[in-house]
Amino acid sequence: MKSDRLVQEAPVPGSFRVIPRAEHAISRKSISAGALRVLYRLHEAGHRACLVGGAVRDLLLGGHPKDFDVATDATPEQVRALFRNCRLIGRRFRLAHVVFGREIVEVATFRGSSDDGSGDRHLVDGRLVRDNVYGSIEEDAVRRDFTINALYYDIADFSVLDSVGGMDDLRHRMLRLIGDPEQRYREDPVRMLRAARLAAKLGFGIDAATAAPFATLGALLAEAPPARLFDESLKMFLAGHGLASFRTLEQHGLLQQVFPATARVLAREGSGHFRHLIEQTLANTDARVREDKPVTPAFLFAALLWEPVRLAAQALVDTGSDPIAAWSHAAERILREQAQRVAIPRRFTIAVEEIWAMQPRFSQRTRKRAFRLLEHPRFRAAYDFLVLRADESPELAELAAWWTEAQSLGHEQLGERLASVPPSASVEAAAVAPGKRKRPRRRRRKGKAGAAVAPTAEGGD
Ligand code: ATP
Ligand code: MG
Repeated sequence: MKSDRLVQEAPVPGSFRVIPRAEHAISRKSISAGALRVLYRLHEAGHRACLVGGAVRDLLLGGHPKDFDVATDATPEQVRALFRNCRLIGRRFRLAHVVFGREIVEVATFRGSSDDGSGDRHLVDGRLVRDNVYGSIEEDAVRRDFTINALYYDIADFSVLDSVGGMDDLRHRMLRLIGDPEQRYREDPVRMLRAARLAAKLGFGIDAATAAPFATLGALLAEAPPARLFDESLKMFLAGHGLASFRTLEQHGLLQQVFPATARVLAREGSGHFRHLIEQTLANTDARVREDKPVTPAFLFAALLWEPVRLAAQALVDTGSDPIAAWSHAAERILREQAQRVAIPRRFTIAVEEIWAMQPRFSQRTRKRAFRLLEHPRFRAAYDFLVLRADESPELAELAAWWTEAQSLGHEQLGERLASVPPSASVEAAAVAPGKRKRPRRRRRKGKAGAAVAPTAEGGD
């Protein structure tokens, strides 16, 4: 499809403001060795070569970028000819990757914003599905998303180039979309999530005109490719700013577009313990990322969808289903619904289901079952999840403490301990329907915790 509309409405590329080396904070010492080599080699070969995007933004803010993107007037083929360690990738957006050991420097050719009729820039219903028209650096700047992401560090004279007011917005700590926000979100709805994520990561505000279309255009996210939303979810929640991203998404009404079941439950009265579980999970995840410890998407999704699945399972139990079967049906349904938005790879949904399925089993402390549970390969994750849930529920805190101790006991000692666990229906029910209320109501809940869930459970629809 040709896009005459875009040709007419393409912003006129502004001229660059040049900020000389002496007037900005970017030092070559903070640029990775690989990126510097790419920049110099391109420059020596007579090409224009600039650092661009998140790296320039983060360096100007005094941060330490994890990856460095280079923009150049060399075509991908010319880039490949200059570097032995180079491969070309991407169809929708053709790029060169130059590899130095563990570092990959992404090199993109300046993109134009007009359609030359070759089909290399392709819009479907206003959505950008292909963007391979090369252009000038001025054109490259205006097709980027936010002004603070359209700053260039020019290796020719170490100056920073700004044609869209990005330096001012950096100073004012503000995210502002380049061009007409509505048109830019229609081209690519994921830009709405990028706005929330970057605002959270940088502690920036979102300019009013940039945030205004969220309410009307947020629903376009339902049409974004679920695989891309999975990638974006990991960037939002597992990159060290998960809690802030979650709050920003919710505040701007975007959570409901990506995690509808989660947002629906959070909007209900009395969802405080669920919010606490999610926020605690994200805070722990952020801390692990800061300490360079591994984090798994499975735990994240287990937490985000916990209350929807618990309510669905409870609704089935209330209508007479066996609890274990109810859990497995509820898990299957909630994950299937979520997959329509976010394509969670199978290996993670399997882990999510296991973490969930083990929750009611923690209450079944018969000798055979307890030993089997302890040997389960996913025991650790499921136990960690139980501990998080226990944070808001005295019954579960007791259960979690029991399992904490169980892990430190030898086989024989644990066997003795298990013999003294009273058969308790209430604790089992509590595992299916954890603390709805806090301490003051504790006595009254005993023995009927399962009934604490309203019959209008989420799972009923
Ligand atoms: P991060 O620090 O999370 O990596 P980033 O801004 O570098 O943030 P990337 O996804 O690495 O994000 O993108 C690199 C650059 O490419 C951005 O800074 C921006 O200039 C441009 N860009 C990325 N995604 C889009 C988009 N959807 N629309 C327009 N420009 C984009
Ligand atoms: Mg980046």
